[in-house]
Amino acid sequence: MREKNTIRQDQKFDNGMLTQVLEKIAQRSSKSEHHPEGPQEEFQWLKDCGALAIVLPGELMDFNAGRTLQLLKLLKDIGQANLSVGRIFEGHINALYLIHLYARERQREKWYQEVRDHGYLFGIWNTQANDGVRFIESEGIISIEGSKTFCSGATLVNRALITGNISLSDRSGWQMAILDMKSVDSQNIDRDSWKTLGMKASGSYKVDFSGYEITEDEFLADPGMYLRQPYFNGGAIRFAAVQLGGAEAIAAHTLAYLQELNRSADQIQQMRISNIMTLLISGRIWLNQAAVYYDKWANSGTHDEELITFANMTRISIEEICLKIMDESNRCVGARGLMHPYQLERIYRDLSFYLRQPAPDATRLKVAEFFIEDNSAFNE
Ligand SMILES: Cc1cc2nc3c(=O)[nH]c(=O)nc-3n(C[C@H](O)[C@H](O)[C@H](O)COP(=O)(O)OP(=O)(O)OC[C@H]3O[C@@H](n4cnc5c(N)ncnc54)[C@H](O)[C@@H]3O)c2cc1C
Repeated sequence: MREKNTIRQDQKFDNGMLTQVLEKIAQRSSKSEHHPEGPQEEFQWLKDCGALAIVLPGELMDFNAGRTLQLLKLLKDIGQANLSVGRIFEGHINALYLIHLYARERQREKWYQEVRDHGYLFGIWNTQANDGVRFIESEGIISIEGSKTFCSGATLVNRALITGNISLSDRSGWQMAILDMKSVDSQNIDRDSWKTLGMKASGSYKVDFSGYEITEDEFLADPGMYLRQPYFNGGAIRFAAVQLGGAEAIAAHTLAYLQELNRSADQIQQMRISNIMTLLISGRIWLNQAAVYYDKWANSGTHDEELITFANMTRISIEEICLKIMDESNRCVGARGLMHPYQLERIYRDLSFYLRQPAPDATRLKVAEFFIEDNSAFNE
């Protein structure tokens, strides 16, 4: 059952405050990259301005209200301020979306209330290595064995949506569960597991959930639902929005650098600025159209393949756009621009690393498959 589409009078979100919060997040990025607790303060600020609750029923970007355009812009803006914060925030939104789609009413109320009243942060951890998660039953108790990798915000998240294999007499497959991180010993978070090129502040550590005893209320939906289309692949537009935010930051820092050094009148630099801005705007156009299709088709059941293909194309276009913008910017600013006190070196590292998302080649092949089948799509 979905909630009715009404906007609440007591909305928590404060847009003016968000603008200030984003500035503060951007200013603190160099510090939070090396902070042992990660971007804890940043999420307190996002909570204070109502951003953590923004997709809940009656709030500004209520999932029921078809506000994907605004949501993608918010994700982009947070990514522009700090890609690691954007990654963790995107996971929070993704987890709430799966709750919106699949939770039973009582579960949904509980988890929504935790966000609304207590500012809980949710994470979503699907990736794993050979020692991945299994749900096992013994003497009537179901417990977890195994670990997740790439757990963004592992030390910050209050509730973790994880996936794993379940094989019981009454169900089997890839099962979602939402766990209480208070019940996971901090020793089980492997802080040595995140030595990376960039995105250090995302603290995407490996987490061992072995021994966690799970209750039925913590399971989310039936096995297999995590991978249900068009939501699974269609959701790629959200991380693409965060990535494009990184490219926006690079464009802004590049322009500021050229202006600071009085180099923006140079015509070769202007050629590169033209390329950067054209690429950036084309990324925004991809996102805008992807949002329109998402709101039109995600729940219609009539255009799943089109929706997935457009999301895939948006994702790969934004990957290419980000790579090209980094290349152009790099030539614009040269070595001096890639040093302290400038921010660009960190943003390049973060964006280069964050662009590596699952199955980039297979995504391109899926796009080809779709058009080999039907080359008249998107021709309206
Ligand atoms: C900053 C960051 C934060 C993340 N946070 C989370 C999170 O919170 N939760 C979560 O679940 N996940 C998270 N992830 C993981 C993410 O979703 C992907 O799983 C991960 O980025 C994919 O890693 P990879 O590039 O090593 O992928 P791979 O799939 O290994 O791809 C690398 C390359 O190998 C190719 N390739 C893949 N398979 C084969 C094959 N069999 N043979 C030949 N070539 C192959 C690919 O096409 C690609 O070119 C995060 C990732 C990053 C970078």
